[in-house]
Amino acid sequence: MEKYTIIISLDAVDEKDFQILKDMPNFKYLIQNGSYSSNVESVYPSLTYPAHTTIVTGNYPKNHGIINNTLLQPKRKSPDWYWYRKDIKGITLYDLAKKNGLKTASLLWPVTAKANIDYNMPEIFPNRLWQNQIFTSLCSGSKLFQLLVNKKFGNLRKGLAQPFLDNFVMASALYLIEKKRPNLFLIHLTDVDHFKHNYGCNSNKVLDALKRHDLRLGKIINLLKKINILHKTTLIALGDHGHLNTQYVIKLNKLFLEKGFISLNNNGEIKDWDVFLNSCDGSAYIYLKNDNDNALKEKVIEDLKIFSKENNNCINRILSAEEASSFGADEKCFLMLEAKKGYYFINSTKGNLVEKTDKDFYKANHGYCPKIKGYKTIFIVSGPKTKKNYELKEMRLIDEAPTIAKILELNLGQVDGLPLNEIFI
Ligand SMILES: [Zn+2]
Repeated sequence: MEKYTIIISLDAVDEKDFQILKDMPNFKYLIQNGSYSSNVESVYPSLTYPAHTTIVTGNYPKNHGIINNTLLQPKRKSPDWYWYRKDIKGITLYDLAKKNGLKTASLLWPVTAKANIDYNMPEIFPNRLWQNQIFTSLCSGSKLFQLLVNKKFGNLRKGLAQPFLDNFVMASALYLIEKKRPNLFLIHLTDVDHFKHNYGCNSNKVLDALKRHDLRLGKIINLLKKINILHKTTLIALGDHGHLNTQYVIKLNKLFLEKGFISLNNNGEIKDWDVFLNSCDGSAYIYLKNDNDNALKEKVIEDLKIFSKENNNCINRILSAEEASSFGADEKCFLMLEAKKGYYFINSTKGNLVEKTDKDFYKANHGYCPKIKGYKTIFIVSGPKTKKNYELKEMRLIDEAPTIAKILELNLGQVDGLPLNEIFI
């Protein structure tokens, strides 16, 4: 019998949102007919690209290789992101499904550029002056499919602006389900993430985005009923990380500039560096050009401690590479920093070391330690193999891929996570 698994990632939807979603009609339906948790621990750093790669591999960032959203490119004003499948170590759910003869599809799922997926519209944006969006996307995914949905539904889209982008993705998703019936379908929606960043977690605009997500879920359920495949479909709605409101940004590369660890060219771009902070928003990696300079290491740690003390203890924690690695983050960093609640890091060398977010900056952010209370994300799975109205008190993002593999009756092999056996009938 043909079987279908549809994974809808609701970027930045967290445990607080779950309390709102659970009373909306379509999420209520999914929860009552599914197994669920609003206490899912993300990964560290709790960012979109590392988290989405964990969702499809079952591994921690240090083991799947996507240790941040962005690459370490100190000299680029706008660094490239980890767009490409080739950057992921090991096998993914979509590779495994395809290898086993299943039809696969993916819409704006992170880190899928040039992946071997039957219908693929990767999340990628042009990052060079000579590139444009359509050309960059076409070259990195399924050309004919993308041309088709752009022609059919492109009028719904206004660049990357929300909620238009998610509306375009949804129209494309419904088309794919009806006409192509992928066995494994990954869909990434960023409506809530977008409005949390720009207006804060408690904004009415976030509530509106949650309402739109409920309507989107309803459209999928109705279509599955209409084409009579709901009974053989596993529908999963999940989040990747939480969000916390932010009042201040911290610019430690400015501090490193003042200390002489970074130098700039005439255009104000980084010419050379010995120490560099690569932001993960709520956390940050510190890298050294030369790993063996012990005097510099001591100096940097001392400078960070003094800076934090002089600025309201805005660095909550300084982790060594070993500690960062024990949390699943990049073991090749020199240090990892955790911002205090209300603060986040950016790479800039310009302006004041600490600035308020009221003007130009994000009003809420992710990237923080995934163990923080109130910052957990969600997982709801409803299908022929899973229990109805069954709550998991707690679970981990790393357990999702092995669980989904089990639903697909496939085996991911040895990964960091474990299948959630208790949800199966
Ligand atoms: Zn995200």
